Amino acid sequence: MLQIKKFAFNAFQVNTVLLFDETKECVIIDAACYDDYERKQLVEFIKENELKPVRLINTHCHVDHILGINFASDYYKIGLEIHKAGEAFLDNAVSHGMSFGFNIEEPVKPVSFLKDGDVISFGNTKLNILYTPGHADGSICIYAEKEKLIVVGDVLFHGSIGRTDLPTGNFEVLKESIHNKLFVLEDDVRVIAGHGPDTTIGFEKQNNPFVGLRA
Ligand SMILES: [Zn+2]
Ligand SMILES: [Zn+2]
Repeated sequence: MLQIKKFAFNAFQVNTVLLFDETKECVIIDAACYDDYERKQLVEFIKENELKPVRLINTHCHVDHILGINFASDYYKIGLEIHKAGEAFLDNAVSHGMSFGFNIEEPVKPVSFLKDGDVISFGNTKLNILYTPGHADGSICIYAEKEKLIVVGDVLFHGSIGRTDLPTGNFEVLKESIHNKLFVLEDDVRVIAGHGPDTTIGFEKQNNPFVGLRA
């Protein structure tokens, strides 16, 4: 059975998400732990539950979402996987980080790229990759179809959407991503957002003030 653990890390309270199943293999999504205390929280949960991290994936590469990728990659010896279109954010991360008050080192380079339609796996679980630009180029959603759960990063939030005023952001593109890739899923699919509480596809279809069907 697929299980999930969320941590809210760093000043931006990014949801770092662990997905794991009965095999104990686990995927780390958006490793955003910034200081020793947060790194320890991540490591201790993994240790206590005897998990084995086998993949390190980012929904997108905004600086608040990548603060723990070097640590996780090095500590668990797993390579970073992102969408190719998000690579430029990694290249600019050090200077960009400084403008947000983060002191970060040069981020690790991705070992492979994920694209729309890819089906990847860990343990006994399959995950579908959906390409959903509009908040930031290279934004992907990670969808466990059978378990009805999707990790969306900053594409969609409970009652809100990701910012579109940052570089490569575009409201029309974001709206299209949400309508064509997310709102076509079943209403009871649980949505794990990059910040804040979970929601569901059905709730956002009905109630989202920016992209809902009644907006
Ligand atoms: Zn973002
Ligand atoms: Zn974010």
